[in-house]
Amino acid sequence: MRLRFAPSPTGPLHIGGVRTALFNYLLAKKNNGEFILRIEDTDQTRYVEGAENYIIEALEWLGIEFDESIIKGGKFAPYKQSERREIYQKHIQILIENGNAYYAFDTADELEQMRSRLQEQKSPVQHYNYVTREQMKNSFTLSNQEVTTFIEKGKPYVVRFNMPQNKDLLLKDIIRGDVKVNTSTLDDKVLFKSDGLPTYHLANIVDDHLMEITHVIRGEEWLPSLPIHYLLYEAFGWTAPEFAHLPLILKPNGKGKLSKRDGDQLGFPVFPIDWIDPKTNEKSAGYREWGYSPQAVVNMLAFLGWNPGTEQEVFDIQQLINAFEISKVQKGGAKFDPEKTKWFNQQHLRLTDTNILAHKLIEKYKSEDISISSKNAVKVIDLVKERAIFEADLFELTSFFFIAPQEYNSKALKKNWKEETPELIKKSIKFLSNIEDFSSKNLEERFINWINEQEIGLGKILNPVRLLLVGNTSGPHLFDILEIVGKTEVINRLNNGLRNI
Ligand code: GLU
Repeated sequence: MRLRFAPSPTGPLHIGGVRTALFNYLLAKKNNGEFILRIEDTDQTRYVEGAENYIIEALEWLGIEFDESIIKGGKFAPYKQSERREIYQKHIQILIENGNAYYAFDTADELEQMRSRLQEQKSPVQHYNYVTREQMKNSFTLSNQEVTTFIEKGKPYVVRFNMPQNKDLLLKDIIRGDVKVNTSTLDDKVLFKSDGLPTYHLANIVDDHLMEITHVIRGEEWLPSLPIHYLLYEAFGWTAPEFAHLPLILKPNGKGKLSKRDGDQLGFPVFPIDWIDPKTNEKSAGYREWGYSPQAVVNMLAFLGWNPGTEQEVFDIQQLINAFEISKVQKGGAKFDPEKTKWFNQQHLRLTDTNILAHKLIEKYKSEDISISSKNAVKVIDLVKERAIFEADLFELTSFFFIAPQEYNSKALKKNWKEETPELIKKSIKFLSNIEDFSSKNLEERFINWINEQEIGLGKILNPVRLLLVGNTSGPHLFDILEIVGKTEVINRLNNGLRNI
């Protein structure tokens, strides 16, 4: 199997495009096949600076690897269409010679006039086809001599596909089953322009054939192009690959296609990595910079339109490769769920090796001029890991261990700071100063015994102690906090509290 991802570098890659790349990759790898990146940049008017690098960087971040690409090369290089002009020029000649394509010299004005005329006449045919071509300037209405002279004189032209009249086509799609189309509903698509460049249809088919692509997986928006693609394969006498058109990705409310605007409004990214528009400097947020892990993004995308048919939801990319089946992709649109995306991130964070997270956390503290031991980093991560959604949460959720509270929650203070509290804290300081073994277990046993001996409610001491240590009355097990904060700092924070309140 040979599959390809064939983006046009017209801007940042929307997550819909990333999902297309992913599904192609999964199917290729499941079958020990190859996955190819081809850049479709023949429409020079839509070329956007930086888009190509963006696509490569985003897919690299996600771990979606190519076997052949503009960077890696490969036996079918070049993989950038703008570097394959001669190939298309040669192929358009084949179609012209075998009568499947023809020259047309109509100017933009003439085409516009044709459209208004058809509209006025309320003609059932509204496009350039076997009926209307007879009234236009093309190989059907001009003599061979005229055509040659026009070309020689440099008159702008296009080469159009000679769409057959009233031919039934049976198109096959792995996801949608058979699709029937009659060619009379189709137009004479432009395949080539006098600037020497092909349009998408020609370049795409020629390259898929020459690059020996066996399966084409792409978005539903390309389904209307399938008939012309089938006909082009036929016109060249080639076998068409198999096709699968993926369902749309819908807005969270299910109404319409997911757009960048939805992301901006509802506060989630629709791009894999940050994108800065080279013209406007406007930034579009990406999953990477937002703090999502590539594993979570891949997992979330795989579930947009596909599921394994089991209860399992959390997959790494290798597991996805093993489980993926293109025939299980749904036809209907797939609703995007930002909350579920966070859930995926949380699940993958929980699966991340604590030592790896500890290393990152130590670095983060270092950047705040705080040095923490790896033993403590592992300990605190274990205490808060379940609650974190993003890696950055680990810092937020653990900072109180290493940074003394700057203030105390006023509500908690009101509730827990009573007349007798300062006296009880003073006694606690004295008691804690005499404890040598500051391990959580030992502290818990001794401290609680001591409180019980005095016949005071546990909360009367434990709540204000917690408040002075962390600024609030919530958080992990108090004695774990005491152990990690350490004796000297515990006593400091309690003394500070007495001074401050
Ligand atoms: N260049 C097209 C795109 O931008 C490729 C469509 C296809 O996969 O055939 O999506």
